Amino acid sequence: MEDTTHVSAGQAFLDLERLLGVEVSLDVFHGTLRRAAQAMHPRGEVGTMLVTCSDEFLGEVRTAFARDVARPLTALQMIGSRGTFAVANLGGRFEPGALALADEHFSGGSRPDSARRLVVELVAHVGRLRQDHSSTHGLVDRFGKASPCCGALTLLLEAPEATAAVRHPWFDQLSAFFGPARLSQLRADPSPWRLVRAAIVHAVLQGESAMADLLRDPPDGPAHILLACVVAINQPGTDGALLASVQRMHFDGTHMHLEHAAALRSSPEALDISSQAGRLLVSFAEQHDQPRVVPVARTRAEVHEDLHALTAGLERLAQPHERAKVHEHLTRIQRQVAHAKKKPSTWRIYSRPLLRGLVQGLSIVAPELGLAAFALQAGTDAVKAQHVRKLLREGPKRDQARQVLHQLEAELQQLSHREAQEVLDVLVAENSPLWKH
Ligand SMILES: [Zn+2]
Repeated sequence: MEDTTHVSAGQAFLDLERLLGVEVSLDVFHGTLRRAAQAMHPRGEVGTMLVTCSDEFLGEVRTAFARDVARPLTALQMIGSRGTFAVANLGGRFEPGALALADEHFSGGSRPDSARRLVVELVAHVGRLRQDHSSTHGLVDRFGKASPCCGALTLLLEAPEATAAVRHPWFDQLSAFFGPARLSQLRADPSPWRLVRAAIVHAVLQGESAMADLLRDPPDGPAHILLACVVAINQPGTDGALLASVQRMHFDGTHMHLEHAAALRSSPEALDISSQAGRLLVSFAEQHDQPRVVPVARTRAEVHEDLHALTAGLERLAQPHERAKVHEHLTRIQRQVAHAKKKPSTWRIYSRPLLRGLVQGLSIVAPELGLAAFALQAGTDAVKAQHVRKLLREGPKRDQARQVLHQLEAELQQLSHREAQEVLDVLVAENSPLWKH
């Protein structure tokens, strides 16, 4: 019985994984997502969460998600069907802490012996305007007028004066997480796929933020989590859907198991886009699977030495109970790193979320150590690296260390997968100085 369930869960997830980079109609996508969620753990209770852009063109996605995913999944629950935990903001940004809240809301009726399920869909979007016999991506027809879609991502690439003159939190957040390298590639992209690329990168990055949140702060009690990041294609007739990344995680109450993962690349130039029979098809070019920013030029030994120097003297700042928490957090991430390494694609997809989860977790318990961990990768930006090192030499005040970490967190998202893997390896290694604190 166990085995049958397992095989069908695996098959249902493979069916979903096959949609990676392939545009299908929204109902086909949602049907496949629902079957993967149903097969995941058939007895547990279900919570659903949807993150979309505020754009009125996402109305179809919201209705379809409620009808084809949320309602069928929750219909048989003892306490009746519940709504979806919905986040709608400019661009469709994942909000840190939202997953924990959603999980708490949906866990009320869970039996302690039964793992619950959480199905999360994160949606980026791009318009498709059909004129005569051609299609233009990045535009929709709003009341007879061609209009940018996604408007927020279009503004992100255009960076109008107003966003510099008046504080736009969404613009600052998106700019920070895309980072200068991805933004300059997208801004220089002369192809008709510019906004499609921006939407895919955005969807993959939002998914990584959600994973980092889960890895830092796992659910309270056993849970199966299915996280799908998708680009909705808004067009006349039925919307399309292109899966950008999907992850399946199982939290057994103590450990988080990274069960399946598949994702398109988050570097714009690595996305090879074409249109076949009017539908988008995306593959990622392997030749771009190289460190994108600056390769970690130092040897492992030098990096270790660096970390020793950065953390020297910081032990006086950590209290014994904090040390225990640091160890607990490090042990958890170390186990997840070992698990992720079993499969190259899982290791690639989870490397940045794991590093972010590690640094975020350290920042809560012992921000000075978080800062030291961060300083290791800040080598890509000499000015920032100097600033962080100076702070560490002076022995930063706790609030000050946290503030700096808040400002710098997006930088971790700009590392290539290889850089993130390299830094993670050093931080969680048995001889890492972080264990001594
Ligand atoms: Zn939008």
